[in-house]
Amino acid sequence: MKLSSKNLDTRLDTVYDAIVVGGGMGGLSAAIYLARYGLKCLIVEKGKGRSVWMQDLRNYVGIDPDTPGSKIVNHATKQAIDWGADHLRGFVEEVTDEGETFAVKVKVGKKDSTYPVFRSKYVIAASGVIDVLPELENMQNVYDYAGYTLHVCMICDGFDMWDQKAVAIARTEGQINVAFVMNWFTPYISVLTNGLKVSDEMKRKLADHGYPLYEQPIAEFLGENHKMSGVKLDDGTIVEATTGLINMGSIYHNQYLKGIEGLEYDGENLLTNDMCQTSHPRIFALGDLKQGLNQVSVAVSDGTLAATQIWRNTRRAAEPRKWEE
Ligand code: FAD
Ligand code: FAD
Repeated sequence: MKLSSKNLDTRLDTVYDAIVVGGGMGGLSAAIYLARYGLKCLIVEKGKGRSVWMQDLRNYVGIDPDTPGSKIVNHATKQAIDWGADHLRGFVEEVTDEGETFAVKVKVGKKDSTYPVFRSKYVIAASGVIDVLPELENMQNVYDYAGYTLHVCMICDGFDMWDQKAVAIARTEGQINVAFVMNWFTPYISVLTNGLKVSDEMKRKLADHGYPLYEQPIAEFLGENHKMSGVKLDDGTIVEATTGLINMGSIYHNQYLKGIEGLEYDGENLLTNDMCQTSHPRIFALGDLKQGLNQVSVAVSDGTLAATQIWRNTRRAAEPRKWEE
């Protein structure tokens, strides 16, 4: 059922089998499986996730490569609800372990917000990440290109940069190293650091590859209809490029888990076993939030595994159903 501030009261006494934080690619896959295992689940989705920003899903088996992420998310949300999952638009602020259950505090509504608390036996952390973008005065100018011809994922979109003039945008020296991987797809790479000064060693390495380095701040991206033609820098320099990669790191949506003790991370990525179970036996983690490849195919598979392990645990603890008249 689709929940909202109007009807969520009906669920405040429910103990869900699982609450899925994040209704993107992995979370919706988990919810579809949970619902079809006959388990009660609630998906909480804040809106404007990474998969909705994805303008086209290029590399998923059998899907038209022009298919936007928003279309898949809308369709899968309906699918999950049709199989029996609950879905609520809201932001998960905090998860508290109460022993047998978790208390999941959700902010509902931007104005006059309410803060209902839902309960579940398991939590599936499927809240993903979001890419850091260059901070320009006119952010609309960034959004006009980022995700279209100015990519954020080389595995997804390296193919679409093939032999084009490209920019690699970084904000730390380590992130500049992406240029030496990206050159598999194109060697015509200009490196932009948007104000960061680079060491002599890195300068030498870039020069050795023939990759121009621009340390000046970015003024604006040039082009039209989401098609980049270049980048203008603060000092008026124009760097020609029809594509590029932003490699400035990610923000991890894992704040609500910070109160849970003993969760193991690699950096900000949650560590899990083969079934996506974290070091807390009742918390599972999927997709971009956990260690591994940030791909839709991986997130969807993770959702399948997590839901199946939760079902196995629940079934093993349940009384067998006997054929009784
Ligand atoms: P998401 O799909 O991002 O879902 C997480 C959800 O959690 C989001 O909807 C978010 O709104 C929600 N959320 C976060 N915090 C909270 C909270 N506290 N409370 C409630 N909800 C919350 N992958 C490919 O395989 N192929 C591609 O071609 C491709 N192209 C891409 C292009 C772009 C521009 C981008 C940005 C990504 C692309 N990706 C691609 C990567 C792909 O989008 C991700 O790997 C995939 O969406 C990960 O799934 P997920 O379920 O882990 O996270
Ligand atoms: P396959 O998709 O089986 O591909 C292996 C291919 O290798 C086959 O096409 C085969 O012809 C070929 N092959 C084998 N040997 C050779 C050889 N020596 N030389 C050349 N080719 C060879 N999964 C779900 O997720 N959801 C469902 O609802 C679902 N329902 C199912 C219903 C049915 C009736 C069946 C049979 C399966 C269902 N599955 C479902 C399972 C799903 O089909 C498999 O898990 C999935 O196809 C496995 O992918 P695969 O690539 O490993 O194998």
